[in-house]
Parts: sequence; structure tokens; C-alpha cells
Amino acid sequence: MADTPRRDPDVLVIGGGPSGSTAATLLAQKGFSVELFERDHFPRFHIGESMIPNTYPVLKRTGMLQKMKGSHFVKKYSVQFVNQRGKLSEPFYFDEHNPHESSQTWQVRRSEFDRINLDNAREHGVKVHEGARVLEVLFEGKRAVGVRVKPEDGPEREVRAKVVVDASGQSTFIIDRFGLREWDPVLKKAALWTYWKGAHRDPGKDGGATLVIQTEGKKGWFWYIPLHDDIVSVGVVADHDYLFKDRGTKDLEAIYFEEVGHAPGLQPLLTGAERCDIFRVQKEYTYRAKQVAGDGWCLVGDAFGFLDPLYSSGLLLALTSGSMAADAIAEGLEKGDTSEAQLRKWETPYVRGIDRIRRLVCEYYDGLSFGRFVKKHPDMKGLVTDVLIGDVFKDDVDVLWPLMDEVRAEQRMPAYQAVGA
Ligand SMILES: Cc1cc2nc3c(=O)[nH]c(=O)nc-3n(C[C@H](O)[C@H](O)[C@H](O)COP(=O)(O)OP(=O)(O)OC[C@H]3O[C@@H](n4cnc5c(N)ncnc54)[C@H](O)[C@@H]3O)c2cc1C
Repeated sequence: MADTPRRDPDVLVIGGGPSGSTAATLLAQKGFSVELFERDHFPRFHIGESMIPNTYPVLKRTGMLQKMKGSHFVKKYSVQFVNQRGKLSEPFYFDEHNPHESSQTWQVRRSEFDRINLDNAREHGVKVHEGARVLEVLFEGKRAVGVRVKPEDGPEREVRAKVVVDASGQSTFIIDRFGLREWDPVLKKAALWTYWKGAHRDPGKDGGATLVIQTEGKKGWFWYIPLHDDIVSVGVVADHDYLFKDRGTKDLEAIYFEEVGHAPGLQPLLTGAERCDIFRVQKEYTYRAKQVAGDGWCLVGDAFGFLDPLYSSGLLLALTSGSMAADAIAEGLEKGDTSEAQLRKWETPYVRGIDRIRRLVCEYYDGLSFGRFVKKHPDMKGLVTDVLIGDVFKDDVDVLWPLMDEVRAEQRMPAYQAVGA
């Protein structure tokens, strides 16, 4: 009997991380045929463990919410800042601002979270290929028409589709092909981290809080993210050159402990704890592409842009871009229009949202006193919290910026430097 001819899918997705599996699931939910190629086999290690509350609507749409509720991931209700002298701020409880179940979010091990997401895509009908590395996006003129892929158990082959979604994370396939990357003018950080067993955990609701612990001289900060099985992820973020140049050592352990020595807020939390993993490093220069889409292609998650992880916004952005892109693609496929104009429909609100988080990231690094700001404008605390929970795809938070400009001027800080300014 002759083989049935292979039918091209409507959509091809490169990468099975959170942005790719979200876009794939939502398109499959709408009845489109979707194939996803992931070069690794899941579960695989990935950084990016702390979620923020506004991931909730997308988790609900993809059917992930019930799985999260039934999971053993640590529940996160708040974030707390610790200053360079070790003084703790009041916790920012998300439910004080919005007493809804969406105010509770999670701290996840990405190996597990990403596997659940990818399985969820499969359950929605996405044809998932693990161990399949995309080598090239195929173009006819400026239009993406498919990919060339190398499955590990077979020869290279070409697969064609009406739309190609680049969700390849920091591999940034399409950005590099078209020279679309814009580096952030100021956010050029690096991270060095490891994992601890038996580190301090507050009782009750505070036990799942992310701590952001500043180091002396405000040279950097540590994340302190409690995970399940009594593990805590603890990493330092600082300017790349400060962390790795002119140190007199390249030894990661030595650099890590030098920085722990500069973090009086962290030291007591690690007393009696045992390190249970290697030291890991990642350069984390902030970047974004000049556009989210072109004819027949779309960029989601880190394949579009990466923002400094200070406020744990990466998963929010991965999920939100996956969902916004899926809507634009679905509408385009229904109308028979997969042009750049159609696929870029979500660009402006999305990029504005990123800019709002970036602004708050820069305010922290530039040294704006949030305490002073909220004291002066107590009615603005809710909007600051909106940004912290990721409710940023709306214009009303923009009233914050002129007021922050005033406080910067009072603190004799230079003007805020926007991207492209
Ligand atoms: C130090 C650090 C700390 C962070 N902390 C946080 C945090 O606390 N909270 C948070 O929300 N975010 C955090 N992030 C950000 C977060 O890690 C990312 O934003 C998020 O993982 C992006 O998801 P994604 O799906 O776009 O990409 P990824 O999760 O990177 O997924 C991309 C996938 O594409 C696959 N792939 C790549 N190339 C190919 C190819 N050629 N063929 C097939 N498959 C391919 C990869 O194997 C990978 O599985 C942090 C980032 C860093 C660097």
C-alpha cells in the first residue's frame, strides 16, 4: 500500500519552552494543525523559576491552571526586598492588591514545568518532536515557508507551513538572520547561581516568597527562590564586567562566595545549608528584536526579547507573547492573511508592556527610592504593584512615569534612559 502523503501543518513552532508550547497549544485548541520541534529531550534544565501573578490568564487559557493547582510547586504569595545593609522591606503581598486566586502564583523547577507544558501541548493535538533540531528557517523572498530540521534518529528534512513561530529562546534564529537585534543601552548583566538544601524558609505564607537581596554598594542583587524538596535557588546578578573582569580569579565558587560576603541580608539564610548543585553562569544582556513578526513568521518569548530578570518577568512575557501571537496567527489563518501587517498586530501593546517593566527595573538599578516614592504618592502603590505582578499591558500605569521623573530629579538622579532614546 502506498504511503499516505504527508500533510503540511498550518503552523510550525521552533522550541518547546513555555512560549512555544503556549502558542502551539492555543493554535491547536482553535483547530489548526501544529508541529513543534524541540532539540532537547524533556525534562531538561532551564533557569527562570519564579512566576508572577499575571501568568494566570494564559495558564487558564491553555488548560495549565488545573495542573499547576494539582502540582507540588511551591506557592508564592509575595516578594520582599532586602537592602544592602540587610534590612527587610515589608512583604509585597499580591492579594492585598487583588484578593483573587490569581494573586497566588508558583516557584517552579523549569525541568518539570516545561515538561508539563509540552505534554499539555501534545494533549491538545500538537505533534511534538523532541530531539529534533531546526537547522534553518526556509524563506521564499521575505516570506517564511518552513524549516529544515534534523531529527536525531533520521535524515534532515524540510517541513513547510503557512506560519513559522520562532520560540527558540536565546538561540534567536530569526533575529540573527535578519539582523533584527537591538541591545539594551544599559542593562548588561550576568548571573551566577547554584542551589542549596536546608536553607532558611519563613513559616506559612511567607515561605514561598521571592527575596531580592541587594549587595553592598548596590553593586548587584541575589535572588532567593524557595523551590520544592527543601531546595532554594540562590543567584547573584550584577554588571557582567563587575562579576567576571578584574576579579583576580575566574573561579566561579570564589566569585560566588565573595558576593555572598557582600550580602549581609543573605548570609544568615544560608547558615547550616548544604550546596547541592554546580555553579552555573549566564550572560543576560537585555535585547529585543525590531519587530515581532514578518511575512509568515512570528517571534515569541526570548526569541523576540529578553529582559533583565529582576522582577521575574520572563515567564510572563513568554506566556503572554505566545498567547498574543497565537491570536494574531489564528485570525490570519482564518482570513487567509499571514502577512507581516497581520502577524504584527500585537506588537505595540506587547512592547509597551515590556517597556513598563523595564522602567521599573531601571529605577531599581538607578537607585530610585521606592519607599520615598510611595510615601509621596500613596495612591500610586496599587499601580506600582500592578507592574510587579505583571499587569502591564494597559495604559493606566503610565501615570507613574512623570511622578517618578519628579522623584528622580529630587534625588538628583540623571533622567531615565529609555530604549532607543
Ligand atoms: C539568570 C536568569 C534568571 C531568570 N529568572 C527568571 C525568573 O525567576 N522568572 C522568570 O519568569 N523568568 C526568569 N528568567 C527568564 C526565563 O528563563 C526566560 O524568559 C524563559 O525561559 C523564556 O522562555 P522561552 O520559551 O521563550 O525560551 P526557552 O525556555 O529558552 O525555550 C526555548 C526552547 O527552544 C529550544 N531550541 C533552541 N534552539 C532550537 C533549535 N534549533 N531547534 C529546536 N529547538 C530549539 C531549546 O532547547 C528550548 O527548549 C531568567 C533568565 C535568566 C537568564
